Amino acid sequence: GSMLGVMGGGQLGRMFVHAAQRLGYSTAVLDPDADSPAGRVSHLHVRTGYLDEGGLAELAEACAAITTEFENVPAAALTRLAARRFVAPGAAAVAIAQDRAQEKAHFARCGVPCAPHAVIASRDQLDAVPDELLPGILKTARLGYDGKGQARVATRAELVQAWEAMQGVPCVLEKLLPLAFECSVVVARGADGAMVHLPVQRNLHRAGILAVTEVGEGVLPAAIAAQAIEGTRAIAQGLGYVGVLCVEFFVLQDGTLVVNEMAPRPHNSGHWSIDGADLSQFDLQVRTLAGLPLVAPRQHSHAVMLNLLGDLWFAGGAERTPPWERVLALPGASLHLYGKPQARPGRKMGHLTLVAESARGARTTALEACAALGIQAF
Ligand code: ATP
Ligand code: MG
Ligand code: MG
Repeated sequence: GSMLGVMGGGQLGRMFVHAAQRLGYSTAVLDPDADSPAGRVSHLHVRTGYLDEGGLAELAEACAAITTEFENVPAAALTRLAARRFVAPGAAAVAIAQDRAQEKAHFARCGVPCAPHAVIASRDQLDAVPDELLPGILKTARLGYDGKGQARVATRAELVQAWEAMQGVPCVLEKLLPLAFECSVVVARGADGAMVHLPVQRNLHRAGILAVTEVGEGVLPAAIAAQAIEGTRAIAQGLGYVGVLCVEFFVLQDGTLVVNEMAPRPHNSGHWSIDGADLSQFDLQVRTLAGLPLVAPRQHSHAVMLNLLGDLWFAGGAERTPPWERVLALPGASLHLYGKPQARPGRKMGHLTLVAESARGARTTALEACAALGIQAF
């Protein structure tokens, strides 16, 4: 009973595996990909589809408890595993997070406001969309990430065109909101209902992909941070959630806080916690899964995280290895590379965390790292 399992073999699974192994657990990963970031560092790698009966049986047989890192793991797979083993988060919570329409309904039930929106699953619903929702963003209800499956639409004609381009799959049209900035909160909730959270993270997205996260003094107003934490706790509580959950928020230009979406797993914006806090989001995931005590993580350093996208490998034309020695020479820099076999533009290949005793210090070093790597300054 000392093996922990994870559905999905991406970088989030890899960092879960590292945290689990540090506590002496062995690990199992289920991922169809023969060479996945988590699979290659795990004791057991089950290489079947997520719904494969044999693969699920092998995982359940080997593990005391199973979690997920892959946002789109079929809820049915979690239900099947849960018949045999402790699974967290549960299939019901994951299913809600996988569907933007259900997710927004859940936010409303919890009293946390989200963007004005309409569900569009039919021609009639398309025609009935109120004018106030334009200009807006049409998002597929399912399977979108890193801004994929989204289209900005200014007019009704563009909306119709975009919906048709999405093959008429169920979508949500959201009003385009005037953002001041974005933030997120990572919360961990145990089977006993105890909750702890990481400090509120300020996030900068570029082209729909997270680029920079900053955590520390002065990165956002205290009143907004308190509201974001309260909203996140209400959302986790309302789901009866067990595990690590991340909730993304918009802060509008008038200071209003609006919830964007949630991820039923550790989140890219929480990666700084490996280097900047005494318990990382992956440590929290292990603890919720293994039924170990949850204590509040303490941020011991100001931190800036820079995502390292595959584009860096192609700067200047020919494929190259980015000049890591230049960032490794910076004080407080921690380089995390995920071991993905092939760099591709837009692909998350790793991240770099810069920690310092002051927010200004972390920011200064992060800007030096940007200059060294050719990442746009922030
Ligand atoms: P993730 O990779 O975080 O799961 P996603 O593909 O699910 O991303 P969203 O979080 O819905 O996409 O949107 C991506 C980004 O687009 C947001 O972080 C924000 O910058 C912008 N955005 C999304 N919806 C709106 C909106 N209603 N108004 C203004 N900007 C928005
Ligand atoms: Mg998303
Ligand atoms: Mg998002």
